[in-house]
Amino acid sequence: MTEVVGFGLAGACVALQLQAHGKKVRVVDDGRGGSSAVAAGLVNPVAGPNFEPSWEVAEAWAVALPFYRELEKLTGQSFYHDVPILRLWRDEKDRAKFFRKQGRLESWIDQVTDEGVTWTGGGWMDTRSFLKVAKDVFLGRGGEWSRNTEGGTQIRCTGAAGLIAREFPGVEHRSAKGEILTVHVPGWHESRILNRSGWVIPIREDRYRVGATYEWDNLETGPTPEGREKIERLLGTFTGRDFQVIDHQAGIRPIINRSKPVVEYHPEIGWMVNGLGSKGVIYAPRVGLEMVTREV
Ligand SMILES: Cc1cc2nc3c(=O)[nH]c(=O)nc-3n(C[C@H](O)[C@H](O)[C@H](O)COP(=O)(O)OP(=O)(O)OC[C@H]3O[C@@H](n4cnc5c(N)ncnc54)[C@H](O)[C@@H]3O)c2cc1C
Repeated sequence: MTEVVGFGLAGACVALQLQAHGKKVRVVDDGRGGSSAVAAGLVNPVAGPNFEPSWEVAEAWAVALPFYRELEKLTGQSFYHDVPILRLWRDEKDRAKFFRKQGRLESWIDQVTDEGVTWTGGGWMDTRSFLKVAKDVFLGRGGEWSRNTEGGTQIRCTGAAGLIAREFPGVEHRSAKGEILTVHVPGWHESRILNRSGWVIPIREDRYRVGATYEWDNLETGPTPEGREKIERLLGTFTGRDFQVIDHQAGIRPIINRSKPVVEYHPEIGWMVNGLGSKGVIYAPRVGLEMVTREV
């Protein structure tokens, strides 16, 4: 029996991929929750200020999208949404930087206008719906579920909690707290994801998710008034409309190696699958598949 400890994006993908390849799997999750339930679920192939594609994004997404679509097909639930992403110019320097790099980005460019560049091939995943679907499928295929470990080979997918607790000696991390708001903006009908510094994701009608903050020094888990104020100011850079805050959440992104996922074995503890950083939706299915190729 293989025990997958932690059922966030990493654990869910590892458990489902192993199970699909004939392994007997028990999930152990103590229910504390992690950043997967907080994440905005954004899939942005060219995130950040420098117009650099995310690390191995094409390869990772070629595994991830079919994995998510297959689960959707199997269950009749829809949780991943293809949505164009409008990356707005920050200033003239920013726009010039884009034009210098444009040649390397062609596969993600839909159009370039005076406002910015629209990326294709991105979108957002409702991570909470995904986790629910993943759990149902896992249990439906005969997977075991427990709050406590019962023995067997362990694959620890415990996210930032595991990194902060130093479950694996010698693994240095630079995890980052993030806060995020869900807002209602009456009368605003923006259907694209907007991104400049920060992003706004339309989730339904005039509801949006907005974020996110980055905080490396204080890894307290709760939402803060300062975080809320920062995101409210950020929203003001995208729309001048009035809004109401419906929800305010915080979580910790598990960051090890410049946000590259890490799969490691420790003879006394077992496997670690962690370090999904701020791009768990893109990378989780591929680390799941990678575990299939290891001798677990
Ligand atoms: C504000 C914010 C916004 C984000 N936005 C995005 C985004 O737009 N797109 C994106 O791709 N990513 C985003 N992320 C990052 C994303 O959340 C992570 O990459 C991903 O969710 C990490 O998944 P994980 O499974 O490694 O960890 P987690 O989601 O933290 O899961 C760990 C699981 O392990 C369990 N657990 C922990 N310790 C134990 C233990 N000792 N015993 C048993 N169970 C245990 C917990 O209950 C939890 O279920 C965001 C993160 C934050 C904080």
